Formats: sequence, structure tokens, C-alpha cells
Amino acid sequence: MAEVSVRNLRKSYTALEVLHGIDIDIADGEFVVLVGPSGCGKSTLLRMIAGLEDITSGDVMIGDKRVNHLAPAERDIAMVFQSYALYPHKTVEANMGFSLKLRKMDKADIKARVNRAAEILGLTPYLDRYPRALSGGQRQRVAMGRAIVRDPQVFLFDEPLSNLDAKLRVQMRTEIRELHQRLGTTTVYVTHDQIEAMTMADKIVVLQGGHVEQIGSPLDLYDHPKNRFVASFIGSPA
Ligand code: ADP
Ligand code: MG
Repeated sequence: MAEVSVRNLRKSYTALEVLHGIDIDIADGEFVVLVGPSGCGKSTLLRMIAGLEDITSGDVMIGDKRVNHLAPAERDIAMVFQSYALYPHKTVEANMGFSLKLRKMDKADIKARVNRAAEILGLTPYLDRYPRALSGGQRQRVAMGRAIVRDPQVFLFDEPLSNLDAKLRVQMRTEIRELHQRLGTTTVYVTHDQIEAMTMADKIVVLQGGHVEQIGSPLDLYDHPKNRFVASFIGSPA
């Protein structure tokens, strides 16, 4: 596990600056939700934490290491996306083990890790199935399984539930929180859904237009929104 810190982080695409100096401190084991309207820079920030985008200026530190100085294989981070692209011609077991196979882990270790993740996610009966024979919720669990088997220092989620129906979304929120309680892995979770943020986060980072508007616990933001934007976005009466 590890703490994550984002220091005066800026990102420009050609002439356009989309992140204007972001500072966030995430404690070891914390579940932090980045929330804000579409286009405010959430995915860009998450990809920068993952080391998937060049940094224009500033730093992202995971523990005592600068993310942009690490080779991809050294980045101990697993990301779950909204379009959980599973390999259609691989079984659930092969989908979950694939990244470990690429890392040349031995077969018995891969099997042990996949079995453990399947057990945690309730996927044990489905290990021999192909993605087409799974429900949306089961596919989402396989996508999480692929992240869990890596046993990463940090989990990053980018709107993982937005393709699911409302009922399943509520159930998966609870499952992801339970998973976090069980594993204790530092997590950064992106959503544009205020309810998801309020119910899942230890700490919420409210973003707008590439700026941090406010950082606090759900209760802090609800009771003491710093400005009208936060108040109306979070839905508090202020
Ligand atoms: P969010 O995830 O909050 O919806 P994004 O991080 O995807 O927002 O996008 C933030 C801004 O950066 C948007 O204005 C978007 O158009 C712009 N942007 C994102 N990726 C690129 C890119 N590869 N090239 C140019 N502009 C981009
Ligand atoms: Mg996005």
C-alpha cells in the first residue's frame, strides 16, 4: 500500500491547459473520490496518477517515488475503467490471470491469485465461462478481479459503474466499499455522480474546470461547502 500525493500538477494539451495546478494528499489505505461535471479533468488527472500521461509541470508521488520516473512495469497500480473490455475468447479465469501471465508469473501462483480474487468477488462458479455468458455485474466483477490479482499498491477506478443499470449500480457501490474494507488498498475513484461520491468516499475532491474547489469528508462538504458551486453540486441546502 502507499500514499499518493499530487503536487501543483498541471496538464496542457497543445495550447489548452486542462489541469491548473492540482494539490491532493491521499493517505495510505484511504478511499478518495474525485467528483465533478463532465469535462472538468477527472479522467486526465486519474491517468496522470497512473503514469499514463506526460506531466506538463508538478509531480505525482506514490510513496516516495515519482510516477513519471517509473517504467510501466514498475508502476504498482491497477486501473478499472467504465468500458471493462474483457477478452471475449478467454474464460473468466484466463481474463483474470492474463496480466500475471504477461509478467511471467508461474502457473500455480497465477491460479492461486485468480482463485483468491474469484472467491472475494463471488466468481468461483464462473471461472470457466466466457464473458458473453455473464451478466453486466459479473463482467464488472471480472474487471475488478483483473485488478485485484495484481495486488497493487493503488487502485484507480474511472466511472466503473456508469454502464450498469440503477439497481446494480447501488449494489456494486456496496461491493466496492466492502472490497476496500477487506483489502485496505489506497483507492482513487472517479465519478460524476454526487450520490456515489457521498456514499463511497472517505474523502471527496470536488473538481470544476481543472481546479480543485474543495477537499473534505462527505459530511464536511455537506455541512460546510466553501462556495455555491460545491453546495449546489453536492446538494446541500446552503
Ligand atoms: P472528465 O473525465 O472530467 O470528463 P477529461 O479529463 O476527460 O474530463 O477531459 C478534461 C478536458 O481535457 C476536456 O476539455 C477534454 O476535452 C480535454 N482532453 C482530454 N483528453 C484530451 C486529449 N488527449 N487531447 C486534447 N484534449 C483532451
Ligand atoms: Mg472522464
